[in-house]
Amino acid sequence: MELKRPVRVRMAPSPTGDAHVGHARTALYNYLLARQNGGTFILRIDDTDTKRNTEEAEAGVYRGLRWLGLDWDEGPDKGGPHVPYRQSERLDIYHKYIQQLLDSGAAYECFCTTEELEAERRAQMAAKEDIKYSGKCRNLTEQERQALRAEGRKPTVRLRVSNKKVGFHDLVRGWIEADTSLMGDFIILKSDGMPVYNFATVVDDHLMQISQVTRGAEHISNTFPQILIYEALGFEVPQFAHFSLMLNEDRTKMSKRMGATFVGEYAEMGYLPEAMLNFLAFLGWSPGGDEDEILTLDDLLDKFSLENCTVSNAIFDIKKLDWINAKWIRRLELPDLAQRLVPFWKKEGFIGEDYDLEHLIKIARLIQERLPRLDAVRDFPYFFREPEVPVEEIQQLLKDKDAKAGFQAIIAAIRDLPWQEAELESAVRSVQSDLGWSNKELFMSLRLAVCGGKVSPPLFPVIEVVGRQRTLQRLERAIAQL
Ligand code: GLU
Repeated sequence: MELKRPVRVRMAPSPTGDAHVGHARTALYNYLLARQNGGTFILRIDDTDTKRNTEEAEAGVYRGLRWLGLDWDEGPDKGGPHVPYRQSERLDIYHKYIQQLLDSGAAYECFCTTEELEAERRAQMAAKEDIKYSGKCRNLTEQERQALRAEGRKPTVRLRVSNKKVGFHDLVRGWIEADTSLMGDFIILKSDGMPVYNFATVVDDHLMQISQVTRGAEHISNTFPQILIYEALGFEVPQFAHFSLMLNEDRTKMSKRMGATFVGEYAEMGYLPEAMLNFLAFLGWSPGGDEDEILTLDDLLDKFSLENCTVSNAIFDIKKLDWINAKWIRRLELPDLAQRLVPFWKKEGFIGEDYDLEHLIKIARLIQERLPRLDAVRDFPYFFREPEVPVEEIQQLLKDKDAKAGFQAIIAAIRDLPWQEAELESAVRSVQSDLGWSNKELFMSLRLAVCGGKVSPPLFPVIEVVGRQRTLQRLERAIAQL
């Protein structure tokens, strides 16, 4: 199906909790649609739930989008032709359209209290009837309304819903329809004067000339009442696309409370924004054909299409994110990687404000292939800190050998060498036959003494980067403790 043009798409988060990966995916897909079609990507803040909104959450949305590199064209911070872009600042606009519906009779005031509605609901349940508003206030006269108002009752406004089928052609899923008879007359304005999400969204999507409303599948059920509102207001209905439902690894529904934030946590955990974008892209879309799984934002701009969006549930598989992240880390140029590692080294207390970037680049070269995430630098403390000597492990390894004499011979062989990995390696190998140590005994014991553990990147490059003074000290400390 052809896209309606000009393409104007939006991301409309409610700042009621931390923006989660579902929001980030919505942002990415909308961004791609806008940029592929010379369109406009709008950021609107859906903050009509005044009790649950927080400023931090709104700030988190901006930070998250910036971290991912998804820039928007219109929004609360950017302005644009449809200001304001925060729903809480648009209440008079919603009230105008509510009035229009009241005037035309498409909507009516409902004075039922929460208790009355609850009693009605219980009675329906007992009678095994469909649970929906009975329509009690549908046909009140002006006199009756005034009397109820005089009782101090504050009305809600409900849309008059007639029984019919309502449907739409979803750009990802094809035709979807529902029966309105199960809906009942639903509330569009709460008694405190706040519009419900479905109402404010329709008014804004119309006024902001949104051509495609594209969002997660959890909003499919909202689309039906939204279409009824479009019709009641006489607005043209936009195109809709609903992406796959996103589930946690245990297949529970991902909620704002459960999914981690996409900036705060993922950035701090050492994921690269490039990897996150790459991962998000696959949560509901597949390039089809030859699946080269490492894609840049440019690749995505090239390949993304609504036709290739998938409808099956997308599982947030953190292992896949780690895998993509590791691949992305390997693709970075060393100076870039080192720069990105700086905050993580600082956090571990390995470096302070004064650091030698050239030296850090050398370390980055050695660990690049071993980092699933940037915060894994904590597994390589020995480039910065003196490790404990694992005395027992060295003794066990060298059992009947004279470890002290061996280390002394190694010190003597390397002490005055030019400090280069090749020279170091040939010098150490040259003492090996005198010592009668196997390869394993030689390299593992050296590794234990210099790195404090059995695993490390290739030994001689590590020794070169650790440096002459510190390597010799570590060997001497081992001798003293053995
Ligand atoms: N405000 C909704 C949310 O945070 C999005 C609404 C929409 O995209 O229509 O999930």
